[in-house]
Amino acid sequence: MPSSILTLEVSARSSQKAESGSVRVKVLGPLERAKDAVRALGLYWGIALFCVLFPLLHFILVPFFLLLGIFLSVRAGLARERMVDGSVLCPECKKPFSVKPALVRWPMNEVCQECRWSFVLIPDSTRD
Ligand SMILES: [Zn+2]
Repeated sequence: MPSSILTLEVSARSSQKAESGSVRVKVLGPLERAKDAVRALGLYWGIALFCVLFPLLHFILVPFFLLLGIFLSVRAGLARERMVDGSVLCPECKKPFSVKPALVRWPMNEVCQECRWSFVLIPDSTRD
């Protein structure tokens, strides 16, 4: 199944206020999810292998990166969508906020670069 890019209407909500905007997400097929998972595992296990070189620190760093690799690999494997880009208005200061590419887990927590308020992005329509 080839992956496709969807445009979603989202709400940006802070504690009191809400704004709307839209984001583009790439729907990930099973093959891409598997590739992301293997890539994450390879990256962090590679770092763990490199950390073997450091005396004493390797007792902490190697298990840390091995476990982090497993955790992030599972997370990448379960993610169904990846953010491509998007723009919403910050609900607090009303300035444009651009959404960074990342794996999507709704609701997404974001922090406005202008006013430092945090808000959540929630897709408007209910999807399955
Ligand atoms: Zn703001």
